[in-house]
Amino acid sequence: MATTLKLILGDQLNCQHSWYAERSDAVVFVLIEMRQETDYVLHHAQKIIAIFAGMRALAQQLQAAGHRVHYLRIDDPDNRQSLPANLDFLLAHYQAAAFHWQAPDEWRLDQQLQNYAAALAIPSQMDDTEHFYTGRDDAARHFGGKTRWLMESFYRQMRSRHGVLMTASGKPLGEQWNFDQDNRESWPGLPWEPSDQRPCHDHSALWQTIQAAGIASFGAPNAAEFRWPLNRSEALEQLEHFIASALPHFGQFQDAMSSKAWRLFHSLLSFSMNCKMLDPQTVVSRVEAAYHAGSVPLASAEGFIRQILGWREYVRGVYWHRMPGYEQLNTFGHSAPLPHWFWSGETRMRCVAAAVGQSLEHAHSHHINRLMVIGNFSLLAGLAPSALHNWYLGVYIDAFEWVELPNTLGMSQFADGGLLATKPYVSSAAYIDRMSDYCKGCHYQKKLRVGERACPFNALYWDFFARNRETLGNNHRLGMVYQQLKKMDSAALTALQDQAAQTRATLESL
Ligand SMILES: Cc1cc2nc3c(=O)[nH]c(=O)nc-3n(C[C@H](O)[C@H](O)[C@H](O)COP(=O)(O)OP(=O)(O)OC[C@H]3O[C@@H](n4cnc5c(N)ncnc54)[C@H](O)[C@@H]3O)c2cc1C
Ligand code: SF4
Repeated sequence: MATTLKLILGDQLNCQHSWYAERSDAVVFVLIEMRQETDYVLHHAQKIIAIFAGMRALAQQLQAAGHRVHYLRIDDPDNRQSLPANLDFLLAHYQAAAFHWQAPDEWRLDQQLQNYAAALAIPSQMDDTEHFYTGRDDAARHFGGKTRWLMESFYRQMRSRHGVLMTASGKPLGEQWNFDQDNRESWPGLPWEPSDQRPCHDHSALWQTIQAAGIASFGAPNAAEFRWPLNRSEALEQLEHFIASALPHFGQFQDAMSSKAWRLFHSLLSFSMNCKMLDPQTVVSRVEAAYHAGSVPLASAEGFIRQILGWREYVRGVYWHRMPGYEQLNTFGHSAPLPHWFWSGETRMRCVAAAVGQSLEHAHSHHINRLMVIGNFSLLAGLAPSALHNWYLGVYIDAFEWVELPNTLGMSQFADGGLLATKPYVSSAAYIDRMSDYCKGCHYQKKLRVGERACPFNALYWDFFARNRETLGNNHRLGMVYQQLKKMDSAALTALQDQAAQTRATLESL
C-alpha cells in the first residue's frame, strides 16, 4: 500500500486537526525532536522540555487512537538532527508516495519546507493548521496600502465578522468597543492572585536526555515540578480555572505589576495556544459565555478577548506581511550588546531584576513587564533590536517568531518606525512607580534624574527624546513630551544627557 508521510511540527500539537479524523494504515505521522529546532537561538530550558514533552504526549495520543506514528527522539541513532536530512531518511524508509505538512507559522520553516517539497520527485501538499481565525494575508488585505496599521480597526472588523460580544443589530455590547479606561489600575495587593492551578509533571528524565544530547540552554529547568499544560485537556482545565478565578479581575489589573505576584490575573495560556493544543475559538467562546452567564464583567471579557481576537491575529498579519526583512529593522540604529544581567537577573534596578528574574525562573513574564520594564529599558538604553529579539525568542515559553518578532521589534522597540505602534512605549520611573511596587526598596531613587542614585530610566528617557527629535518630534502623540523638552533649560538638559551617556557606558554594572 502506498504510504503518505505527514509531518507534525513541534508547535502543531492540535489533536483535533482533521488529519486525525480517520485512521488509515496508508498514513504515517512523523514528529521529530531535532537540533535544528533547539539550536537556532539559545532557548530557555523549560521551552525545550515543554515542546518535546508536548510532542511526545500528542504522539502517544495518536498511537493510542490507532494511528501510525514515527517519532524521532533527540537521542535516536536514526536522528539526522536537521529537517531535510530526517525527511530524506523517513521518506526513503517508508518508500513514501506522498508528503504532506501543515503550514508553518515561522517564515524560516515555511521557506525550508517549500524548498524541500519543490525538489521532491513525489507529490507533496501543504495543509492548513486549522488554528487561527485569519489567513496569513487577511490583515494585509484589511489595511490595504496603509503605512500605519491601527490594531483597533482590525479588531472591530474581527468582532463584527465573527459576531463576538455583539448585539443582534450589529453593535458592540455595552455600546463601546473598548473598555481600556476601566482597565488601567495598579494592584493594591487585594484580591490576592489566584492559586497556581497549572498541572505538575516530573520531567527529570527528559531533562537528563536533553542535557546528555549536549543542547545548550539557560534559565531554570524546574523539570521535577514542571508546571506547564502539555496537552489539550490540561490546557482546557487551565482555561476553566482562569475564567473562574482570574478573569473577573483581568481587565482591571491587566497593566499592573508586582514583585509579590508574578502571574497576577493573567491566563498563562499563550504556550498552549501557540503550540495549538488549545484553539483561540474555544478560548473566546468560553470567555464570552462566562460574560453572558454573569460571572465576568464586560470590561474584563472584552479586554481579554481583544488580546486574542485582536492582537494575536493582528501581529501574525504584520509578520507575514513584513517577512523577510522585518527582523533586520532598526529605525534608531541601536547597537549596544545586551548586558550580562539579561542572563542572571542581577541588576540593582529592582523592576528589571524582577521582570528578568521571573522570566529566567518561569520562562514567562506578563505583558507589561515585557513591554514597560525590559523593553522600555532596552529601547532607552539603545540595545540592539536583533540581539533583544534573540533573547525574547529564547527566553519565553510562548515565543515563536510570528508573534514574538512584531511584539519585540515593532511594539516594544519601535524598530519598524511605527507600523505597529503609534508612539514608542517608553517611560521614566513615574509610570513604573504608578503601576507597581518595584520602586519601593530599589537601590535607585525614582524621583532623582541625575547623580549616582538617580533612577536610570529618568535621564535615559529625556535623552531618548532629545536625541530622536528629528524622527519623533512631529509625532502628534508626543506633543506634550516635546513641549516639556522645549521648556527645559539647556544646563538641565545637558546634565541629563551627561547622566544618560554615563549610564549607557556602565550598563553592565547598573
Ligand atoms: C516584547 C514583547 C514580546 C512578546 N513576545 C511574545 C511571544 O513571544 N509570544 C506570545 O505569545 N506573546 C508575546 N508577547 C505578548 C504577551 O506579552 C504574551 O502573549 C502574554 O504575556 C502571554 O501570557 P498570558 O497567556 O498569561 O497572557 P494574557 O495576559 O492572559 O493574555 C491572553 C492571551 O492574549 C494573547 N496576547 C496578549 N497580548 C498579545 C500580544 N501583544 N500579541 C499577541 N498575542 C497577545 C496571548 O495569546 C495570551 O495568551 C510579547 C509582548 C511583548 C511586549
Ligand atoms: S527606581 Fe527606577 S530602576 Fe528602581 S524600580 Fe523604580 S523605575 Fe526601576
